[in-house]
Amino acid sequence: MNYVDFHCHLDLYPDMGGAIADAERSRVYTLTVTTTPKAWPRNRDLTRACQYVRPALGIHPQLVGAGSVDFELWKRYLPEARYVGEIGLDAGPRFYRFIEQQQQVFNRVLTTCAEVGGKILTVHSVRAVKRVLDSIEANLPADQGRVVLHWFSGSVAEARRAVTLGCFFSINTAMMSTDRGRALVVSLPLDRLLTETDGPFTAVGGRPARPSDIGLAVSAIAAARGCPAPDIVAAVHQNLKKLTQPDS
Ligand code: MN
Repeated sequence: MNYVDFHCHLDLYPDMGGAIADAERSRVYTLTVTTTPKAWPRNRDLTRACQYVRPALGIHPQLVGAGSVDFELWKRYLPEARYVGEIGLDAGPRFYRFIEQQQQVFNRVLTTCAEVGGKILTVHSVRAVKRVLDSIEANLPADQGRVVLHWFSGSVAEARRAVTLGCFFSINTAMMSTDRGRALVVSLPLDRLLTETDGPFTAVGGRPARPSDIGLAVSAIAAARGCPAPDIVAAVHQNLKKLTQPDS
């Protein structure tokens, strides 16, 4: 049974090729997300021969305010991408002033994905959970695309709403380091759980986490939920299959 890292930025490591090779060697099913469509060709090409690593076409909310976001370029590459991300909204202090621009881009991404159909999205929602869920509800019907909420930090009630909208959740070790995060993860249905490192943005022993570290997230989830780690591994594996199989 293979582990799953459903949100990692392999193109942000100093040695991207080495990071991809490490993920392949560890046989962890890894979704490597991007922050700008300009990064797509390189990510697509370097993962083409991979058995375990898949690329996602992203347009990161934190870059929208920097004016460097090219929606038309993102749209042009979309037919080549099965996975979409990192996308979403960020209403944190540094990015809140661009929230309306972010919202416009996010809505266009969601409606475009809905038109095309069959995409699997990994979504950022820092301090913007309600907005993100409202946007998904309005623009992406559950039968026209699948959503994984990455590093979800909303309330238990908001998580319940996300579940009714059909969303999955990818859980990392940083989320499991607070009482609030653990309580949230315990409240989630087992059949909606995935795991992630969000490397290099989480750390293991003072260095950036890699997909091969994903067992730490599995153990933390198992400990919080009071079940054996292999049960979590099996559930996540099953959830990945369900998420990526058409018409299920
Ligand atoms: Mn990320």
